[in-house]
Amino acid sequence: MNRAISEQSLGLYLHWPFCESKCGYCDFYSVPLKGRDVAPLLSAFAKDLRLRVAECNAPIDTIFWGGGTPTTLEHENLAVALGCIRDAVEDHPVCEFTIEANPATVDDAKARVLVEHSVTRLSLGAQSFHQNELDALERLHIPSDVPEAIRIIRSAGITNYNIDLIFGVGGQTLDSWKESLARAVDLDPPHLACYGLTYEHGTSLTKQLKLGTIQACDEQLEADMFLACKDFLESCGYEHYELSNYAKPGHQCLHNLIYWRNGSYQAVGPSAAGCLRDVRFKNVCDVNEYIRSINEHGHAIAERETISNTERALECLMMRMRLVDGLDLVAFQTCTGINLAENCREAVVRLTQAGLIECDHAKLCMTRRGLLMADTVIRELASELDPPSGMSLNVITSRPSVDS
Ligand code: SF4
Repeated sequence: MNRAISEQSLGLYLHWPFCESKCGYCDFYSVPLKGRDVAPLLSAFAKDLRLRVAECNAPIDTIFWGGGTPTTLEHENLAVALGCIRDAVEDHPVCEFTIEANPATVDDAKARVLVEHSVTRLSLGAQSFHQNELDALERLHIPSDVPEAIRIIRSAGITNYNIDLIFGVGGQTLDSWKESLARAVDLDPPHLACYGLTYEHGTSLTKQLKLGTIQACDEQLEADMFLACKDFLESCGYEHYELSNYAKPGHQCLHNLIYWRNGSYQAVGPSAAGCLRDVRFKNVCDVNEYIRSINEHGHAIAERETISNTERALECLMMRMRLVDGLDLVAFQTCTGINLAENCREAVVRLTQAGLIECDHAKLCMTRRGLLMADTVIRELASELDPPSGMSLNVITSRPSVDS
């Protein structure tokens, strides 16, 4: 399989809305499964998938099935869903097919089904190897589930896998974070995603923070954790290629690279958001409403908008600056018609003098110090592109689907 994408590559994002339980920090649309009959959703999902794929006028190169937790499906239903996906994309040159999994939801039968249906990559939400931190995050799994899940998928034949970890958790210390990193690296993942904990609107942890029953991590400690992670993983042979993502050579997440290069992606499932060229859309965030809409109207799109040139340029800036090797100024100008170095000259000079960015005729990238202040860097640059009022310029939280 040729693992390569281009600026024209199209991704397909699929959203499965069920999890075993709701984690304390999660603001993705997901609801506890609680013995629910998944047949009506599977049927609507298959219909949505066929129609959305038929509508694509470019080849689909990558698939990412996240949520929620797709592996909450029993292996028989997992096979049904994957069979629908495989049939829908059979004429497309898919070179990467990722599925998200919670470590407690992986077993031999499911792993076999994944391999039989051409899943090439698994993304495992480990988050921490310390029980007190998993408890603080309100995770259901225990630390030993992670090596066991990896043993299972490796013996089924999936060797391309990602481990998600979170730093800045209540009760976490620099040493416990380093230990989680070391335990993860011992499992030889080709890819690691390491996110700082964010307190999103409406989550259980945000409510506790407001009530004062928990405290946010000290900013300096969080910065130390970020740099400890970068230094340790780079010393272990991982390339730091995106703010929060590290990969062994040749193992970057191609699907997420499409997001970060501000490419096009189709979207299927409740709450799934897509962007095809300049049209952005989002499906309804409710399982029952999604099923009803698909069955009655053939789609469940709740919001659709054509983005302006300025919004496109801002999104391009916010996404491409996440890449550690920087924003390609020529590609940016081709994509948006804007000469960024010229348009944002004052911010570029200010940020360069502050040691937060480096800019030459071809590239604009953040320095080691700039990576710690990515939000500030992006805001400063974006403010000179005249953002429409109300547009979020928060680079850290405008992230693709992260974990399960
Ligand atoms: S973090 Fe993952 S497992 Fe937890 S509720 Fe969100 S989607 Fe589900």
